[in-house]
Amino acid sequence: MDSVQIIPLPVVDDLGLESLGCDIVIHDDLATVADLLAALDQFAGQYLADCKGCDGCCRERAPLIAADIPALASLLPAGSFPAHAVCAAFGELTVSDNGAADICFRRDPKSGACCLLDTKHKCCTAHPCRAFVCRSHFCIPRSDKLSRLREEIVNGGENELTRLLLAEEAQGARPLQDKPLSSQLSAADYPPNPHSGKAHYRDLIIKDIVSTSLWRQLKKEG
Ligand code: SF4
Ligand code: SF4
Repeated sequence: MDSVQIIPLPVVDDLGLESLGCDIVIHDDLATVADLLAALDQFAGQYLADCKGCDGCCRERAPLIAADIPALASLLPAGSFPAHAVCAAFGELTVSDNGAADICFRRDPKSGACCLLDTKHKCCTAHPCRAFVCRSHFCIPRSDKLSRLREEIVNGGENELTRLLLAEEAQGARPLQDKPLSSQLSAADYPPNPHSGKAHYRDLIIKDIVSTSLWRQLKKEG
């Protein structure tokens, strides 16, 4: 049995109409984010039509996580500061007044289109290297636990990416904005977390990176 299964979830709307949603069951304590993505691909292949003709979700906010960086960096010349290189080429960094960083794919201010979207053909120009958030999105309802899983992975991974940017800046990377990130954020607010040192989705063991309460739900059958 696969370590992660994405399963159909019947969803009934306010009018009593039933549609397809998706849910998750995890069978193995060592299941990884790569296993999750493989299960999502398998579900999409079995139940969903492809996206040809639609680029809707490539015009929405798409945050980046640390484990997205190696694949995206492979599209660029090799360098010493991959997180900075990727964020400079494809990203947009904002720091809120309360000192929280947000790192997303850069989007066209008018159309909202991601900088990696081929708007003419409505397809991703970096499909094999696209981010976790792109790979894990379907436009059908998700169960609460699957939504929470995606959210916890993104939050932890984005915090780790912020930590990497601060570390690279301290080592001499050119700041992404006029003001250094270190003048806007405290490195103490971005300590190492369970995403640290995990460069690939296959290194991220789901049990280690989610809250205990969520893990209990994910391991519960049905
Ligand atoms: S997942 Fe849905 S919204 Fe996104 S591109 Fe495909 S069909 Fe369009
Ligand atoms: S990286 Fe590709 S899949 Fe992800 S939002 Fe941009 S165009 Fe869409």
